[in-house]
Amino acid sequence: MRKILYFIGLGTFILSCAPQKNVKTSSYRPKPTTTQPKTVVKTPTTEKIKPQITNDRGVEFFTTNIADPTKNDNTISYGSIVSAKPTGYKVVKTYFPAIAQNFRQRYLILHYTALPDDKSITVLTQQAVSAHYLVNNTGDNEIYQLVDENKRSYHAGVSSWRADKNLNDTSIGIEIVNAGYTADSIGKRLFVPFNDAQIRKVAALAKDIITRYQIPATNVLAHSDIAPTRKQDPGPLFPWKKLYDEYQIGMWYDEATKQSYYDLATVDFAAKYNEPSFIFNVQTQLQKFGYGVEPGGKWDDATKKTIEAFQYHFRPQNYDGIMDAETWAILQALIQKYPVK
Ligand SMILES: [Zn+2]
Repeated sequence: MRKILYFIGLGTFILSCAPQKNVKTSSYRPKPTTTQPKTVVKTPTTEKIKPQITNDRGVEFFTTNIADPTKNDNTISYGSIVSAKPTGYKVVKTYFPAIAQNFRQRYLILHYTALPDDKSITVLTQQAVSAHYLVNNTGDNEIYQLVDENKRSYHAGVSSWRADKNLNDTSIGIEIVNAGYTADSIGKRLFVPFNDAQIRKVAALAKDIITRYQIPATNVLAHSDIAPTRKQDPGPLFPWKKLYDEYQIGMWYDEATKQSYYDLATVDFAAKYNEPSFIFNVQTQLQKFGYGVEPGGKWDDATKKTIEAFQYHFRPQNYDGIMDAETWAILQALIQKYPVK
């Protein structure tokens, strides 16, 4: 049965059903706080902070951060607590909190549904694909939660970024209702714009998630970034620069750095364009930045699609999949600004 559902889901990412306007979730979320807890427990070797726990409608939350930022990149231990309840025994949560812990949620991936509101809901709730959140396009103030943030949703598929693979395991997925694209007579993809109200909704939601999980800018990505040979969403009309400028969400390059790389690139760009060593260098830099492309020294289909995905995100004025001097300069400016740790 599961296999059947899987194939139905894969084969049809086509949605058809009435909107579920009554999908509601608890709005309670403990806010990160830097205040010190009242109770501390002395040990012979180190001073341990005792985590404070609050209970909201039967769900327990840590309200203090006991993780140690000097030992972890991603150090927040807030959030809901899921514990075993073994018969006849008591699980205690506050005696021995470990400082070595972080969130499993390390990526935020944005999508468009390529479907209208009602069909988006049907596909994302009744088939073998899903997302944690669905941002509708109906102009109200609702955002639908489809999957608990502590659980995996099935939105990324085969995917990679830098050293990470299968990003369903480590990401929160947001689907945005948008019609996607149509192809013109020569096959160029023509995308449908997002409206401002919907983008504000996405930005507020993304900001909340990024803040709570301390997701780094390098891990806020498009589906097309982590699956460039298969996916185009959320496409070149998704306003990544606006999100960066107005909400400090995700990555963007510095203009002056780009310009200096551009001046260098234009010196002999045309002459070296088809040299295998240059193509290999381009592929290596795309890979270094994060894309799952294999350097082979040829302008192959996978490389073209990867460049196109890069352009959707960072040079949306022209997304022809050809590595031109400006795209090359932007890639290098981004690598300089967001080096792999
Ligand atoms: Zn997607």
